[in-house]
Amino acid sequence: MRTRFSARSLLMVAITVLMAGGRPVAAQQNQGPAAAPRNPSPANMPLPTLQDMFVQFPLPPGQEAYADIDGKHMHQYVVEQANISRKYRDAGHPKFWGRIIGTSADADDVAWMISKFKAAGLTDVHSQPFDLVPQWFPESWEVTITGNGKTISLESAQPDYGAVGTSSGGLDLEAVYAGLGSEADFAGKNVTGKAVIVFSMLGAPSEGAVRRADAKGAAAILEVNMLPGNARYEAYPSGTKAPAFTVGHDDGVAARDIIAAMPAGESARVKVKLDVHRVPNLKTAQIWGTLAGVTDETIYIMAHRDGWFDASGDNGGGVASILGLAEHYAKIPQAQRKRTMIFIALDGHHNSGEGSAVGNKWLADNRQKLFAKTALAINNEHPSTVQTQSRPRYYNANEIVWGDTYMPLQWYAGGPSRPELEKIAVSAFKQFGATIDLYPSPTPPASDMSSFYRFLPGLDFSEYHSYFHTDSETPQTVPWTGLEAVTRAYAKIIDEVNKLPLSTLQRPEEAVRTGR
Ligand SMILES: [Zn+2]
Repeated sequence: MRTRFSARSLLMVAITVLMAGGRPVAAQQNQGPAAAPRNPSPANMPLPTLQDMFVQFPLPPGQEAYADIDGKHMHQYVVEQANISRKYRDAGHPKFWGRIIGTSADADDVAWMISKFKAAGLTDVHSQPFDLVPQWFPESWEVTITGNGKTISLESAQPDYGAVGTSSGGLDLEAVYAGLGSEADFAGKNVTGKAVIVFSMLGAPSEGAVRRADAKGAAAILEVNMLPGNARYEAYPSGTKAPAFTVGHDDGVAARDIIAAMPAGESARVKVKLDVHRVPNLKTAQIWGTLAGVTDETIYIMAHRDGWFDASGDNGGGVASILGLAEHYAKIPQAQRKRTMIFIALDGHHNSGEGSAVGNKWLADNRQKLFAKTALAINNEHPSTVQTQSRPRYYNANEIVWGDTYMPLQWYAGGPSRPELEKIAVSAFKQFGATIDLYPSPTPPASDMSSFYRFLPGLDFSEYHSYFHTDSETPQTVPWTGLEAVTRAYAKIIDEVNKLPLSTLQRPEEAVRTGR
C-alpha cells in the first residue's frame, strides 16, 4: 500500500524534523504526561548512523604514535562479543543469557579470544582451564500479578543471581506495595508470607529494601528498577531467604496500578514460579598471551570476558580495549618494548559468591611468582559507556537521554603511596580526552582490581551506571570514541611508566582493607 502525504502532513513532518534538531522550546513545557518521543531511539539506530553522532577527541599534537589505536576498529570486537551472547540466547536461553561462565557461550568466547590474541601477534597464547563449583542457572520463571479481573505477566522480572527457586507449583501470594522499602514504608503493614513490591532508584540513597522485606517475612520480593524503560536487570545476590527479582520500571508501574485500583478490603495476587538448578562439572578459563620485551620486568593487562546479556559495556569494551593495546604494541619492535607485556582475558566474576572469580584467585595465590617484577597492572573494565542523563526537569517524558559522548570513569591509580603513577595516569586520561571523576574513588577498586591492588601497581578506570547488567547494554551503548580515548590513554601510561624504575612503582603488600 502506498502512503499519500497531504501538504499539511508534510508541513507537520518538516516542523517535527526542525524541532528534533533544535533546542526544546517553551511551548513544550508543561505538556502533560508522556509527550510522544519525536526522535528515533538511539538504541535501535544503525550503528554507523549512531557512531557518526559521537564526538571524537582529536589526537593531540605530538601523539601520532597512538594514531593506530582506532575506536571504530575496536568497536567491532564489542559487536563480535555481543554476537557470542546472542547465539547463546537464541539457542534456547531467552531470559538468562550472556557470556555466562561455564556455558557454551563461555566456550565460544574462549575460542574467539584465543584467535584474537593470536591474530594480534601475541606469543604463547594459551587457555588456562578452571573447574567450577556447581553453577546457578534459573531454567525458567514466571511472575504475574492479578487484580480486578486483569492479569499482567511481568516479563521484565529477572531473578537476582543465586535466588532460591520455588516448588514446581509456584507461589500464589497476596501483593503488598511497600514504596521505597524504608522502615516508614513498612509501618503498619504485615508482609509475612506475602509478595512485597518495592521501588529502587539508582543514585538515591540505598534503603536496603529487599533485605528489609526478607527480614520482615516476605515470601517473594519484587524490586522495581525506577530507571525509565523496562529493562531486564541481573542483580548480584540479594542473599534473601525469599526469591527476589528485579522488575523493569514499566512492569513495576503496571503492577502498582493494579494494587492501587483494588477495592477496599481486597488484595491483588502475585504468582511466582522459579525453577533453579545448580549445574556441576562446568569449566571456565582465562586466556594468556605475551609480548616479550627487552627485560623480564612485566606489565600485566587484564580484562574479564564474562557478562550478562550483550555485556557490551561490562565488559565487551574492556576486552576490545586490551585487544587494541595488544595490536598496538605487537607492531612495535621487541627492542623498543622495555618490559614484557602479559595479557590475560580473565574468566570473570558475575557468578558471584563461593567459587567465583577462580582466575583472580589463582593469580592472587601465585602472586610471589607472577608479580615479583611487575611495574604496572591494568584492569580494563567498562572503559566506555554512552553518556546518559535522566529527563530534564521541564520535560515530561520518562526516558533516559543519550549524550554524544561517554561517561566519566570512577578510578583508582595505584593509591596514595604511588603519586608518580597517579600523576601519569590522570594526565594521560586528560591528554586524550578520556573523561574521569575529579578525584579517585574513595573505596578500594570494586572491579577485578580488588583482587590485586594490595600488592600490584594497579590501574582501574570504570563505569557502572544506567545500563550496567541490563539487557539494554548493547553495542550501541559503547561509544567507539570512548574506547579510542581510553585505550590511547592506557598506551600513553604504559610508555610513561616504562621510563620509571621498578622501585618507584612497587610497594610492600598492603593489609586487607575492610569496609567500603
Ligand atoms: Zn565488569
